[in-house]
Amino acid sequence: MSAEKRVVSGSQRKTDRDNIALRPRRLADMLGQDRVRENLSILIEAAAARSEPIDHVLFYGPPGLGKTSLAYVIANEVAGNIRVTAGPAIERAGDLAAILTHLKQGDILFIDEVHRLGKAVEEILYPAMEDFVLDIVIGKGPAAKTLRLNLPRFTVIGATTRLALLAAPLRDRFGARFRLDFYEQKPMQRIVLRAARLLNVEISDDGAQEIARRARGTPRVGLRLLRRVRDYAEARADGVITLAVTQAALALMEIDTLGLDDIDRRILRIIIEKYSGGPVGLDTIAAAISEDSATIMDVYEPYLIQLGFIDRTPRGRACTRHAYRHLGISLPEADDDESQRALLL
Ligand code: ADP
Repeated sequence: MSAEKRVVSGSQRKTDRDNIALRPRRLADMLGQDRVRENLSILIEAAAARSEPIDHVLFYGPPGLGKTSLAYVIANEVAGNIRVTAGPAIERAGDLAAILTHLKQGDILFIDEVHRLGKAVEEILYPAMEDFVLDIVIGKGPAAKTLRLNLPRFTVIGATTRLALLAAPLRDRFGARFRLDFYEQKPMQRIVLRAARLLNVEISDDGAQEIARRARGTPRVGLRLLRRVRDYAEARADGVITLAVTQAALALMEIDTLGLDDIDRRILRIIIEKYSGGPVGLDTIAAAISEDSATIMDVYEPYLIQLGFIDRTPRGRACTRHAYRHLGISLPEADDDESQRALLL
């Protein structure tokens, strides 16, 4: 392995360690999402009082808001083992059957990207979630027999960024469903301060506030910015994250005051400059900036919609007057009803 590669994988390991250290362990460590936390603690306490495993739980919302973390937190709270997998990783029905037969009473099966399970796999999951049984077909043709195995009572925790793509029967089997929203500024700031403490980095209140303000309401982004600002503070200042250090580091990373990066701005500019503000189809935008449409839809668009910069219309995406204003582009004369409507938003 070349020295360069070793350095890269060494810093990768450090990042992994950081990630594990920063993951909240208990519900009390999860900051923000108060409504979700309150509902979860009721779910957990009530199940404990009945000495039952908790109902199946579904988390949905944009990436980086804490769906995986919540699955680990629940496992810790109920003192259960957690088995982690993802929709695309379970290719065949047999793969899921193997996972299910190894579960014990009270275990948690976390399935990330649960909307990407195949049909055949879902068919196995339905009776497993509903009746805790596994139907195995032995043999083929008219001589085939179905064998029914009882499974221990376990809990499925599913996570998805695309609730709409989840088959209705699967969605219905999750007794508790929670939408995770972007974090408000205050809890985001507390998350940054907590992480700085765990990473042993000195940070001022206004430094944390500035990182939180530009974190797109997303803890994963906030923690990433914190690490980059820490690097900058160590390499270009005295190691302390102050407001000035944060502003200089983020300016260098081309992250603007609202937390938009180069790709966000390119998305907005393509719509405004090439397609007169839209509406324009997602695939066209994706091709124009050489990004994957799914990434734009999952990662970039939700925040731009939340800011009120992009509007989803039946004919595609349109930019609103707020986007023009943020980019300092003057508003065109609206020449048809649709763009008129978009500009009025
Ligand atoms: P998702 O599964 O929704 O993509 P994750 O659970 O992987 O998101 O969270 C992304 C990162 O943000 C993790 O490093 C996690 O430690 C951190 N994080 C998420 N939510 C919180 C929270 N409420 N409090 C503290 N840290 C959080």
